[in-house]
Amino acid sequence: MPDKSLIWFRKNLRVFDNKCLSKALTESQEVIAIYVIDERLFEMTPYGFKRASEFRLKFLYESLINLKNNLAMMNLELIILEGNSFQQISKIMNGLKITDVYYEKDIAFEERQLEKQLKRNFRDVKFHKHNANYIFDYEVVKSRVKKLPDTFTKFRKDYEKLYLSAEKKLYPVQYEYTGQIDFKKEFTAFQKSQTNSESNLKIVQDLAERVDRFSIQADSRATFVYQGGENVGLDRIKQYIWEQKSIKRYKKTRNELMGRNFSSRFSAWLSLGCISVNHVIYEIEKFEKQELENDSTYWLKFELLWREYFRLLYGKYKIDIFKLKGPHDRDTHSGLDTELCNKWMTGKTGEAFIDANMISLNHTGYMSNRGRQNVVSYLIHDFKQDWRFAASYFEHMLIDHDVFSNWLNCSYIAGLVGTEKPHVFNIQKQAETYDPKRKFQKHWL
Ligand SMILES: Cc1cc2nc3c(=O)[nH]c(=O)nc-3n(C[C@H](O)[C@H](O)[C@H](O)COP(=O)(O)OP(=O)(O)OC[C@H]3O[C@@H](n4cnc5c(N)ncnc54)[C@H](O)[C@@H]3O)c2cc1C
Repeated sequence: MPDKSLIWFRKNLRVFDNKCLSKALTESQEVIAIYVIDERLFEMTPYGFKRASEFRLKFLYESLINLKNNLAMMNLELIILEGNSFQQISKIMNGLKITDVYYEKDIAFEERQLEKQLKRNFRDVKFHKHNANYIFDYEVVKSRVKKLPDTFTKFRKDYEKLYLSAEKKLYPVQYEYTGQIDFKKEFTAFQKSQTNSESNLKIVQDLAERVDRFSIQADSRATFVYQGGENVGLDRIKQYIWEQKSIKRYKKTRNELMGRNFSSRFSAWLSLGCISVNHVIYEIEKFEKQELENDSTYWLKFELLWREYFRLLYGKYKIDIFKLKGPHDRDTHSGLDTELCNKWMTGKTGEAFIDANMISLNHTGYMSNRGRQNVVSYLIHDFKQDWRFAASYFEHMLIDHDVFSNWLNCSYIAGLVGTEKPHVFNIQKQAETYDPKRKFQKHWL
């Protein structure tokens, strides 16, 4: 049995259906939980904005506060640190003589590098890696990923059966964890031994104050207000599927641009793992059995399969997806005209449908899927700019930012992954189809 285990929270900020947490608690004698707010979130991109906007940070901090409270009810303390992830985790591991680390596998480039660095430096420690917030256990499908089809339709045909027939095992919350008392004492002593020097532990205690200090306010025009954390995420599943039963009409409404229930809004909580994708699918399937199964219930699962597809596609091409010409070295625009990029970013292109979408993003941290496709197409194909500018700005702004969904959707619109043909949207036609009475445009302009 592991002696002293560390649960390293990453994009699994929840207590329900958290395999990593469940395993650590059942397998270990002493457990301590940490999360590191990585300094890279505050870094400037080459484009002059930070990696993460206040919208993203607020959602993250709220999620951490909620996780800390939920873990406290299980008698487990979450230590929230800030700075260089490797240094902060190493400090804890050395200081507390950690023997085992439980964590969620994350195949994104920076996350993978960090994992490797820790393993290299702590050869005597046992690392227990668990499936991240994916539908398929990455370790199980890894061997198939190299041969992953380049088109979604083919992928869907190959994988859908596997996905729909798979048993969804959810991990319940384990209250009453009793093993932490001595570890808490030990941690307090260790903390006291730390001086204020730069390289020392940076424990964050002021998250609620930070949230209050943010300058962003809920915009009165927003039709949906996000709040981070597992509790709100679970409530949203309940409301959307079971109470409002909006899932019944999802296929018809999903291309709308505003409103509370035209789409599920699950993405934000999924991106930080406040809810698990398998839990969402479990609830949809339960709804299908108990209430109704139709093309809309299927379509919500279909969209979640897109999310999975981009994750696996990243597994196939890795950092090549970040290259201007993508993994297949295809031609694309490389412009980085400051004036054009600024017009696009601030919603001042003069194209009303684009501007309304960008302004809504800048005031809420969210944009509908239809909006995202159009604005990204406009920057790439009409303004002829480098697709990575769009992806970086989305990374900065989106509350639901997810490296795979964002970067690969942008690359897909540029025509660098999937079919060779770029996806060029006719903006006027799209506006007429999806905003025929200009309701959305008038709302934001
Ligand atoms: C350029 C561009 C960038 C995007 N960036 C992100 C991102 O950073 N994070 C993110 O979660 N989604 C991203 N998406 C996908 C999609 O726009 C959002 O998931 C969706 O708008 C979120 O709202 P929802 O949860 O109400 O979606 P719903 O319509 O209710 O869909 C349900 C779930 O299916 C998944 N999904 C739906 N559409 C897609 C898609 N096209 N690709 C991948 N997954 C999908 C999401 O997990 C979503 O929560 C992007 C799409 C585009 C075109």
